Amino acid sequence: MMKCVYCKKPSIRNLQLSELLGLAKIPRCCAACHSLFQRIQQEDNRHCQGCQKGVSNLDIAQSRYCQDCLTWIARYPNYAFCHRAFFHYDKAFQAWLKQYKFMGDIQLAQTFIVELQELRKRYKSFIFCPIPLSEERIKERGFNQVSEMLKAAGLPFQELLLREKHQTPQAKKTREQRLATPQPFVYQEDKNKIEGKNILLIDDVYTTGQTMFHAASCLFPQSPNKVQTFSLAR
Ligand SMILES: [Zn+2]
Ligand SMILES: [Zn+2]
Repeated sequence: MMKCVYCKKPSIRNLQLSELLGLAKIPRCCAACHSLFQRIQQEDNRHCQGCQKGVSNLDIAQSRYCQDCLTWIARYPNYAFCHRAFFHYDKAFQAWLKQYKFMGDIQLAQTFIVELQELRKRYKSFIFCPIPLSEERIKERGFNQVSEMLKAAGLPFQELLLREKHQTPQAKKTREQRLATPQPFVYQEDKNKIEGKNILLIDDVYTTGQTMFHAASCLFPQSPNKVQTFSLAR
């Protein structure tokens, strides 16, 4: 009997042929829990085309980009803006993330193993690179929530970056403070060369884009072919 990793209730469900044959991952989260999370419609014109933030048509009538993305575009004119995410960062997602990340329920790393398989197809030639935590944060939490999810989904990844000491949590800062935080990442020189390679930076949540752009700017001097970003929610 399988138990749902989120609600911990036994879940009874017949396996599909592809799952029996090992061609598809067996969901570890029950249908009821799964229905709590809202997928972002990929090509919805009510979303910013740079980061998928939900914005009213009026806001993007001119540029199709949200205010945050316009700031980034001005700062990184050569960067192709195409952040993608699976879910809306709503109350349900926040509750899940709290249980996973802050209460340390590591079983939850398995919640989205089925969805994460989509990354294999969508980012075929990419090296997956999770956004790192600082050493202190890893000690305190015991795991990197992104790396654990990729491991659970069987997706190979490389930890190309290191993060220096965490400062004030992003959530406790104003938008202005967040956009002005100093670079917290360093590229790990001893890693495989990424020159000419495609890199996908992966985080759990995307808010202003600050974290992703700090991480991306650490990779640019290594001359990757392309850097793109992905988060579970935004
Ligand atoms: Zn459940
Ligand atoms: Zn945007």
